[in-house]
Order: sequence, then C-alpha cells, then structure tokens
Amino acid sequence: MTTPGNDVDSDTDLLTAVRAGDTAAYGTLYERHHAAARSFAFGLARDPADADDLVAETFAKLFASLRAGRGPLVAFRAYLHTTMRHVCYQRARSDRRLEFTDDLSRYDAGEPYTDPALERLERSFAAAAFRQLPARWRDVLWQTEVEGSTPAELAPQMGLTPNAVAVLAHRAREGLRSLYLQQHVTAAEHPECRWAGDRLGPQVRGRLAARDTHRMRTHLGRCAECRGRLDEIREIDGFRHSPYRQRDHAGTAG
Ligand SMILES: [Zn+2]
Repeated sequence: MTTPGNDVDSDTDLLTAVRAGDTAAYGTLYERHHAAARSFAFGLARDPADADDLVAETFAKLFASLRAGRGPLVAFRAYLHTTMRHVCYQRARSDRRLEFTDDLSRYDAGEPYTDPALERLERSFAAAAFRQLPARWRDVLWQTEVEGSTPAELAPQMGLTPNAVAVLAHRAREGLRSLYLQQHVTAAEHPECRWAGDRLGPQVRGRLAARDTHRMRTHLGRCAECRGRLDEIREIDGFRHSPYRQRDHAGTAG
C-alpha cells in the first residue's frame, strides 16, 4: 500500500517502513547515510578494512533492531553513530587491534541493547524540533547530551578543537530550544499566549525580566495550555542542564 523507498521519503518514513517489513527502505537509508557512517568509522578505527567492517556490522545490527521493532523512530544518523560506537567498543574488547580512547567500563557487556536516553528523547516533545536541526547540530547534541561525551572527547572525531565543539554544542542546544519554542508559539492563538510563549525559555531559566514576572505569573495562573508548555520546556531544560553526564550506569535517575 505504501510506496517507501522513493527519494523524497524522510528518514522517519523510511524507519517506519523498515519496521513494517520493507527491506528496500533500509537500502535507501543505507545509501543516504553510508558515506557519513564511513567517515565516522574512520574516527574510530584507523585501518580502512576495520572501518569498513564497522560500517557493515553497524548497519546490519541496526537493521536487525528495526526488524525486531526496536531502534530509532527518529534521528537515524545519530543512532547510527551511537550504534557504531557500541559495535566498536564491543569489538575492541575481543580484538585488541582496534584502538580506542574511551572508558570501556561504560559499555560493559551483558546489557541488552536499549537506550533509555533515546527512548526519552523520542517520546519527548523535543523530537520534532530535533529532527529539524541541521545534521551536524543533531550529532553534537546527541553525543554531548545523550551519550555524555565531553568536547575534548569529541574534538578529534569532529576535526575541531574542544572549544569549537563546545561552541557548536551550545549553538545546537540554543537552536533546539528556539525551534521547539517556535513551534509552540505558532501553535498558540491567543496573543497573550504568544507573549508568554516567547518568554517561557527565560522563565524556566529564571531569567525573565523583572517587569514581565507579574504578567507571566498571572497568565500561567489562568492558562492551563501555557502551564503545559512550561512543563514541556522544563523537560527539555533538564536535558540542557545535564551536559556531559555519564550514561545511566552512574545511577542517577532521570
Ligand atoms: Zn496561554
């Protein structure tokens, strides 16, 4: 009934199609992301043969996940990179030829391959905005916010200085926030809701101008929709304010 595999399908459509059993759709994803995956692989493995193996194994693993009804609903590229890092670390454990720089204990074996951070992101209201970000922003956001990598760790892979990575991550977070807020602002019809919508970010961060606090409090007191938006933004803000955290093994509940 659907005709996935055509060029204009978004990654999200293709992911849905693969889940529904369409192998050709995965071929399209592969073509679209293969080159990026390969250059990412070269950041992890120096030997070209190892890099090609990494790419192949990563795509195979992701395909199996999708067919089993797991894996990403959005942000395929970011998920691909995450998966590749897992594959790389797993292999490094059994094959010391591969070089690695990260702490292997983070990826200790035996855990089933689920990613609570990813699931949270997918469920969150930020997902739509995240999808609209430029690929490079999505990558840096993913790696800093979800994977908990530091700019210093990412710098060699990205060919940037740690400071440039930090700047990029900051821009990406701000970009996500404005896109996200903008969606709500345009969705709000009442002028007072649009006024409030423009200021929910500062409100959450405690940076609302003093002259606006009374008006904001009054509006939130009577507008359930804006209170809901505020809660959503708080959720993203929690995301933003836990940069470079360790993965969930650190034991802090979200
Ligand atoms: Zn309102």
